[in-house]
Amino acid sequence: MANLYYRYNPKTFQYERVHPSGKKFLKRTTILFFIALITALPLTYWYIQKFASLEEQYLIHQNNELYADWSELEQEIDEAYATLNQFAEKDDGFYRTLLDLKPLPQSIREAGVGGVDRKLEAVTHYPRVNLGYERVEKLKHQVQVEQQSFDELSLKTDIQLSKRATRPAILPLHEKELIRLHTTFGNRFHPLLRIWRDHRGLDMTAAKGTPVFATGDGIVSRADYSDTYGLVIYIDHGFGYETRYAHLLKYELKLRQEVKRGQLVGYVGTTGQSDAYHLHYEVLFNGTQVNPIYFFQRDLDHKEYQKLVEHPTYKAPAQ
Ligand SMILES: [Zn+2]
Repeated sequence: MANLYYRYNPKTFQYERVHPSGKKFLKRTTILFFIALITALPLTYWYIQKFASLEEQYLIHQNNELYADWSELEQEIDEAYATLNQFAEKDDGFYRTLLDLKPLPQSIREAGVGGVDRKLEAVTHYPRVNLGYERVEKLKHQVQVEQQSFDELSLKTDIQLSKRATRPAILPLHEKELIRLHTTFGNRFHPLLRIWRDHRGLDMTAAKGTPVFATGDGIVSRADYSDTYGLVIYIDHGFGYETRYAHLLKYELKLRQEVKRGQLVGYVGTTGQSDAYHLHYEVLFNGTQVNPIYFFQRDLDHKEYQKLVEHPTYKAPAQ
């Protein structure tokens, strides 16, 4: 509160208030102003230091939120790495082993395609953010590597499956219709020629006209008559395998025709050098006869076999 000045007036016998002159008033006001200023400045400075402005408070809040979001993102990256590592382990330890493929070298997995470890250029000034970007980039490379590996596995599986489908694997006759299986493979006495000679196939005695089936997928490489084989069908199965069906009564396939396992080849006959109704069946690997007995039911159980011989291509023999 400003000081008030009073002076005694002997005429009125009273104390009367004395108003300061304009100059004095200005002086006092200026002094007061400077005192206020000197007091206020450090106080304001202290306040600003101690308490942030509203805008700053908002920014701090936003910053904290961004930190939390980024941490969450980093956690997600960690989880993605863990999942990918599980895939990689399964890929190397199971799928690639199963399909006779070598595990992928760690250098390829780490660096990505082509084995080049491309160091990322800094995205921002914040090392933590840059590290995050770098890790995501590496993750992308590893996913690509895994994708390529799975493409390779898929191709290998297709080859294996087609090998499996083409491999001669079943009996060429319906088991119930097989009267007798002559398992002699090799040197034996030929009943017609009355001499010992190498017999490089299996003879299956069956009634005239018994259906004969292809034992694996393939392409007909021969369909004609020969003096020894009679009416004969050769099927090329690829991968070095071939089967031959001889002494047929009639055949139902044409040269170069595609054949499925279980498809009707023809009917049991006794054409060519044969003295009884039977099928002479051969399996060749890289041009050499091998014992067909080792191929029967190799890939199929009995039920599967039955299903195949009941294939819609089957039809009753023409008498
Ligand atoms: Zn024979």
